[in-house]
Amino acid sequence: CLAASCQYSGAEQICRSLSETVVAGGLAGRVRVRKVGCLRLCSEGPLVRAEGEGTPPVLYRKVTAEQAPAIARAAGGAPADGVATADLNAPFFSMQRSIVLENTGRVEPERIESAIAAGAYRSLSLALHEMSPEAVVDEITRSGLRGRGGAGYPTGLKWATVAKMPPGQKYVVCNADEGDPGAFMDRSVLESDPHRVIEGMAIAAFAVGADQGFIYVRGEYPLAIERLDTAIRQARRLGLIGSDIFESPFDFRVDLRIGAGAFVCGEETALLQSIEGRRGQPRPRPPYPAESGLWGCPTLINNVETFANVPAIIREGADWFAGIGTQGSKGTKVFALAGKVRNTGLVEVPMGMTLRAIVESIGGGPPEGSTIKAVQTGGPSGGCIPSDLFDTPVEYEALKALGSIMGSGGMIVMDQHDDMVALARYFMGFCMDESCGKCVPCRSGTVQLYRMLDRIERGVAAPEELERLEALCDMVKHASLCGLGQAAPNPVLSTLRFFRHEYEAKLIGKN
Ligand code: SF4
Repeated sequence: CLAASCQYSGAEQICRSLSETVVAGGLAGRVRVRKVGCLRLCSEGPLVRAEGEGTPPVLYRKVTAEQAPAIARAAGGAPADGVATADLNAPFFSMQRSIVLENTGRVEPERIESAIAAGAYRSLSLALHEMSPEAVVDEITRSGLRGRGGAGYPTGLKWATVAKMPPGQKYVVCNADEGDPGAFMDRSVLESDPHRVIEGMAIAAFAVGADQGFIYVRGEYPLAIERLDTAIRQARRLGLIGSDIFESPFDFRVDLRIGAGAFVCGEETALLQSIEGRRGQPRPRPPYPAESGLWGCPTLINNVETFANVPAIIREGADWFAGIGTQGSKGTKVFALAGKVRNTGLVEVPMGMTLRAIVESIGGGPPEGSTIKAVQTGGPSGGCIPSDLFDTPVEYEALKALGSIMGSGGMIVMDQHDDMVALARYFMGFCMDESCGKCVPCRSGTVQLYRMLDRIERGVAAPEELERLEALCDMVKHASLCGLGQAAPNPVLSTLRFFRHEYEAKLIGKN
């Protein structure tokens, strides 16, 4: 695995050692080293997966460069002696269902030939040659796909709105400005299977009548940027998307735009402002980007995971996709599972799976000596769900009813040692730092909320402070201009709802 997590723990050196052993040991005719993306069990990295004909695959974990020669020599046969392996039949793998990640860890992200061999761009070809733009929009609508960036807006409805706008300049934008603390789903997809996202965008462009796309990526994701850049050049060179070399009847050009680290640029109107070269600040809606987006033109904006679902829907059909998940939440959801569980990493599950199944079965439950207390979903815009509500299914409405949100997919597990007031203060501090300052309720409200939480945490707040905290949360939630401010109080409100006793225990006179 040469995704960022394994790279940072030495995968490049392991890869070199594997290749050198293959050459020096005369194994080149029998063994091939492939540089793939995320193999999911990130906490056990660096990971090496060995596959051979007629033998079960082996996943080596916590591999060192010194162990690499033994792995190369054993490739295709019994596992190498003395190297730790992971159980590929364990719930962490067997309970997952892959749509977005179907080729993650299988294809080589830097080689388009590898992606094409695994089926990349076949759905685009199908859409271009056997479907009308209306039929593509209809397929996405019937699939029930909802935006995976957090809000869960119906994707087909968004596509239909852009498609219905009068012909002329239209844009397709991929929001890859993943900024939630603890979230790494989109980064993993971009590092592991960038062609999938480009293909999804190209299908969208065909459906809505756009000829220019932008992928807006976080500047803190250098590897994702590098692989996307390579992938775009490769796809262009082969004439699969707008090409400088080949005449193509479908002329769709994709360009990268790199964010400069502002969390608010994940908000779609701020992101569009940033692409236009302005300061990344949200603008009031309506008009919505679908009607008036980039430079005043109709603009379709979806996030990485949403686009990554599209090739599979076109290939397998809307009914297939709609058959996975629940009544209101179709398909699968990718989560970055982190925190106090045995298995942390990249997880894709069908919608409707319970939090308990994800945390206790896939995540493997708490480490020794730890008791799971809650799970935080949705990052700084989300909320904390206590362990006694872990039978809640993962679906948009069910999580919202508990004061949390699906969000883009960050899932942080907490144990008995985690202080919920400190957690709420941390997320409020994050929102305070990231507030763009355009509107007063958020600019000033997050500062005041942070100070209140800090006083409560330090045990110097009077009991009345709790009421003022709730009142101010309510004001910031309802009066802020964009999603950052509107959702900033969520971690406070949800911890107050389920862990009020922790706040009360810190008030003056209670401690
Ligand atoms: Fe900026 Fe916050 Fe207002 Fe959004 S809510 S526009 S981030 S100040």
